[in-house]
Amino acid sequence: MRRRLCILGATGSIGESTLDVVARNPDRFEVIALAANRNTRKLAEQCARFGARLAVIADRAKVDELADDLQTAGSTADILGGEEGLIAAVGLPEVDTVMAAIVGAAGLTPTFQAAREGKTILLANKESLVIAGEVFVAEARRTGAPVLPVDSEHNAIFQSLPPNFTDGLDAIGVEKIILTASGGPFLDLPAEELVAVTPEQACAHPNWDMGQKISVDSATLMNKGLEVIEARWLFNARPEQIDVLVHPQSIVHSMVSYRDGSVIAQLGTPDMRTPIANVLAWPERIHAGVPHLNLAQINDLSFSEPDLDRFPCLRLAFSVMKAGNNAPAVLNAANEIAVEYFLKGRIGFDHIPDLVEDVLNRVPTAPIVCLDDVFEQDRLAREQAEMYALECND
Ligand code: NAD
Ligand code: MG
Repeated sequence: MRRRLCILGATGSIGESTLDVVARNPDRFEVIALAANRNTRKLAEQCARFGARLAVIADRAKVDELADDLQTAGSTADILGGEEGLIAAVGLPEVDTVMAAIVGAAGLTPTFQAAREGKTILLANKESLVIAGEVFVAEARRTGAPVLPVDSEHNAIFQSLPPNFTDGLDAIGVEKIILTASGGPFLDLPAEELVAVTPEQACAHPNWDMGQKISVDSATLMNKGLEVIEARWLFNARPEQIDVLVHPQSIVHSMVSYRDGSVIAQLGTPDMRTPIANVLAWPERIHAGVPHLNLAQINDLSFSEPDLDRFPCLRLAFSVMKAGNNAPAVLNAANEIAVEYFLKGRIGFDHIPDLVEDVLNRVPTAPIVCLDDVFEQDRLAREQAEMYALECND
């Protein structure tokens, strides 16, 4: 039977890679609904090409533009706008699988809806798990919604674990999960030069071609910090069971260290179509269009400890994971604002960790028991982040 897909964030880097894999395997997938934020032209072209029945544009002001673009592209897809549209797309009875590839906390509501409805979730939107991990995992468990990780590191770990890993890592003899980090474009830049880096430099990742936000996160190592928290929830790990190793070649995508001394890793060319194909077809294997890895051509696979002094975002994320409660939601919101301001030239690259730490200090500890708590903490943190930027520019 064909998998029937809803792709949230279809026009982004992950969304486009997903459609590329779908196009290579047309017998296996049916595209039911596609959703994007503002890019109506690209969304309409995708709907026409893949025969989507529903097009959703999150920015409601763009609904008319989408109607025109769909007509021009030759698609007869129905149209919905806003967050209700995203929720409706996920909930279509024809949809069995949701690719959650919206960037940022904006992805939480529709991704959570997929969990609520017991749909298979292909999870790229790591921010959902960072800010609402415990509530999200509990909901997916309640409804039996499978959550398959798209993030390359987590997909590598998923491939390196036995199927019953949700029983807990102790039960399957796992001692550590080791996430690899490329180190980003500034791995070897002297600390004093980090002050002057530009958004263009920060977005030019040496190994991966990604959206702007995750590119900046990779440059600060906040991406690895978010991934540490993501791993905690995906694999039911205790904080002390997660380590990070810098591996600049991005060939070993992550590894699992077992009690008996075995270390199992997944390797591959750095191309998101591999983990995407893995979750799309799981437990089967399909072609992804990715060049095969030729280890004989790779001279060097190197590994080192991350430098938490030069990249304080990773240190902050580790401490936030241990603190729990609202801290991860506050860290994430502060980081989203910091990245946005950095991209707009309002703050410098070195202000990103400063802003995040400042906001973490300003927002008091609070428990998270439901989604509304998450949204409230997200709002408080964004308010404080705004204050920081204003004070910075004084
Ligand atoms: P991107 O910026 O390229 O694309 C983001 C997508 O989300 C776009 O389609 C955009 O229209 C949509 N979007 C943005 N805001 C929205 C909103 N408010 N409502 C609805 N849709 C909205 O980002 P990306 O690089 O594809 O990353 C997407 C997610 O996948 C992120 O959470 C990222 O951390 C994760 N991820 C990406 C990669 C990668 O290689 N790009 C790897 C691992 C994980
Ligand atoms: Mg990753």
